[in-house]
Amino acid sequence: MIAVREIRKSFGEHEVLKGVSLQVAQGQVVCLIGPSGSGKSTVLRCINGLESYDAGEILIEGQKVDNTAASIHRLRTRVGMVFQRFNLFPHRTVLENVTEGPIFVNKESPAAAREHGLALLDKVGLAQRASSYPHQLSGGQQQRVAIARSLAMRPQAILFDEPTSALDPELVGEVLAVMRALAADGMTMIVVTHEMGFAKEVADRVCFLHSGAIVEEGPAQQVLETPQHARTQDFLRRVI
Ligand code: ATP
Ligand code: MG
Repeated sequence: MIAVREIRKSFGEHEVLKGVSLQVAQGQVVCLIGPSGSGKSTVLRCINGLESYDAGEILIEGQKVDNTAASIHRLRTRVGMVFQRFNLFPHRTVLENVTEGPIFVNKESPAAAREHGLALLDKVGLAQRASSYPHQLSGGQQQRVAIARSLAMRPQAILFDEPTSALDPELVGEVLAVMRALAADGMTMIVVTHEMGFAKEVADRVCFLHSGAIVEEGPAQQVLETPQHARTQDFLRRVI
C-alpha cells in the first residue's frame, strides 16, 4: 500500500536520502531504526508530503505523492502522522482536539465526529478525559490523544516518528500498548523507534537506515538478533 522507490533528497549540498526504497503492504508494521541524522524523519516526512523529494517516487495505493495541492490533500486524509511532540491544540478540550480534523477537513457532522471521537478516546483508554485540556494530562495521555486524533481521520496508514522518546520512562508502556493494539487491529504502520523490544514483538519488518541509505532490512527477529551488516551490529550494540 506504501511504495517508496529510490527516493533522493538533499538539503543544499548535503544529500540526506541516497536512494531509499521501502515497501509496506496493507496491515504491515515496519519499524525504521538507525542513528541520529540518518534520515528517518525525512523519510516519513517525504511519505506524508511534509517534505518534497528530488528523485524517485512514492506511491500510496498506487497514487503518486507529489507536491500538488490535490496530492497533499489526499495524503492528509489518508496517512496519519504521530510525532514525538504531541502538538495538541492547548485551548481545546481532548475531544475537540480529536474532532477538529473530521469536522473541518473531512466535513463530518459534529454529532457523528463526536460519537466517533468518544469511541476512539475509549479505545485509547481516555474516555473519562474527553473534557480535560491537554495541560491537565500526562505526556503519555497526551500522546494517546494524539493517536486518537490521528485515527479520527480514518487513515489507511499511520506514520509514527519516535512517539515515545519525549516521555518519562514510566509512561512509555501505555503508549506502546495502544500502538500494539492498533497493529493487532490491522493498521498499516511505519514506526521510527528506539524501542527495540516493541520492534521485535510487533514489527513485521525492520529497516536499518544509515547515512541516508537502508543498509539492512528483514524480519524483525532476524535484523535485531542476527544482524549481518557491521553498521547494524554496531548500532544495536549501542542501543540495546
Ligand atoms: P534523529 O534520530 O535525530 O531524529 P533522523 O534519522 O530522523 O535523526 P533526519 O531528521 O531525517 O534524521 O535528518 C537527516 C539529516 O538531514 C540530518 O543531517 C539533518 O541535519 C538534515 N536535515 C533534516 N531536515 C533538514 C532541513 N530542513 N534543512 C537542512 N537539513 C536538514
Ligand atoms: Mg528524527
